[in-house]
Amino acid sequence: MAGSSLAWRLDRKKYTYTIFDAPNLASASQVAAGFINPVTGKWMTESWKIDTLMPKAKAFYQDIEQSLGINIYHELPIRRYFINPEDAIRARRRIKNPRYANYFDPILEKGSEPIGISDDFGSIPIRHGNWVNVPSLMKNLKSYFKSQGRLIEETFDASKLVQEGTGWNYHGVKANNIIFCQGAHRGNNPFFKDLPIIPIKGDVLDIRLKDIQLPPGLYYKKRWLHSLNLGNSDFLYRLGASYEVGNSDAEPSITAKEGLIEILKNMLGPDLLFDIETHRSGIRPTTEDAKPLFIKHPKHSSLFAINGLGSKGSAFAPYLSELFIDQIENHSSEC
Ligand SMILES: Cc1cc2nc3c(=O)[nH]c(=O)nc-3n(C[C@H](O)[C@H](O)[C@H](O)COP(=O)(O)OP(=O)(O)OC[C@H]3O[C@@H](n4cnc5c(N)ncnc54)[C@H](O)[C@@H]3O)c2cc1C
Repeated sequence: MAGSSLAWRLDRKKYTYTIFDAPNLASASQVAAGFINPVTGKWMTESWKIDTLMPKAKAFYQDIEQSLGINIYHELPIRRYFINPEDAIRARRRIKNPRYANYFDPILEKGSEPIGISDDFGSIPIRHGNWVNVPSLMKNLKSYFKSQGRLIEETFDASKLVQEGTGWNYHGVKANNIIFCQGAHRGNNPFFKDLPIIPIKGDVLDIRLKDIQLPPGLYYKKRWLHSLNLGNSDFLYRLGASYEVGNSDAEPSITAKEGLIEILKNMLGPDLLFDIETHRSGIRPTTEDAKPLFIKHPKHSSLFAINGLGSKGSAFAPYLSELFIDQIENHSSEC
């Protein structure tokens, strides 16, 4: 997501660019649920820079939609179920804070507007959520970059870079600047191997529910359940995501799957009938303070890294790619 967003902006600005992408490396973006949620986490706090990030993301994805004739950016009704009385008290406090007034609809008391999800403590609807169909976005961008002859599908070996004046030569491909957007794989790069990235593994299940149909939207109760109407009353539900700090193994985990199913049954009842269609897993490249990284190499001013998109790549990628363009056009110092 980081690299493709940057390449898209470079393309729109008519820069010459080449993308290297290893076809067989696991990528978080292939698994991302793509939610942009203004209020997240246990404490229901406003996401970092969200007022700046949301309009940028909207403009960015809508530009791609219009240019490529695709449909990947959607509004997302969100309903967060309280998991204990403290959670409900916290929400009551939050909605009184004028800073949050724009993000919440009134609290729904226990049992109101039932849709089949167990509701012991009430819930709160969150406004201004969106979701990006990230796997579809990635597939379409990849086709576009390929059609423009910009994509080389192979592993980039940064140790083979040769410096030429102020630029670089990589097996005959010459560049003024190189930007590494490697997600959790940054450890193989001698220039940026020490980036403070904490890998957090996440598993996601695509499921079909029998005898129950939830209105399209996102339901959050410990974990999220995304109800997607694929058209003609064909509903797919996406359930996720597990959270395993420090694990960089992208193989789907049986323990994570079992944990997610337990949460699903807690939401919809122990006798729920369902089929699992797919089980995918990815590694979120996170940072200690959950803020992304845009770094210029301390010795080589033409080498950059964009990383640390964490759990919020859909909102961060459009912003970081714009920062990079600003950096090369205006020598901005916000790195
Ligand atoms: C289960 C799960 C759910 C998520 N849900 C959300 C969500 O709801 N909302 C949200 O905003 N974010 C979500 N995320 C987070 C989001 O997926 C990440 O923030 C984002 O995908 C990170 O993008 P990236 O480009 O930095 O890394 P990646 O997508 O991992 O991409 C790294 C790329 O670098 C390439 N690469 C690495 N090394 C090399 C090399 N040497 N040579 C060539 N290519 C190389 C890889 O092939 C890969 O394509 C979720 C993540 C997971 C795992």
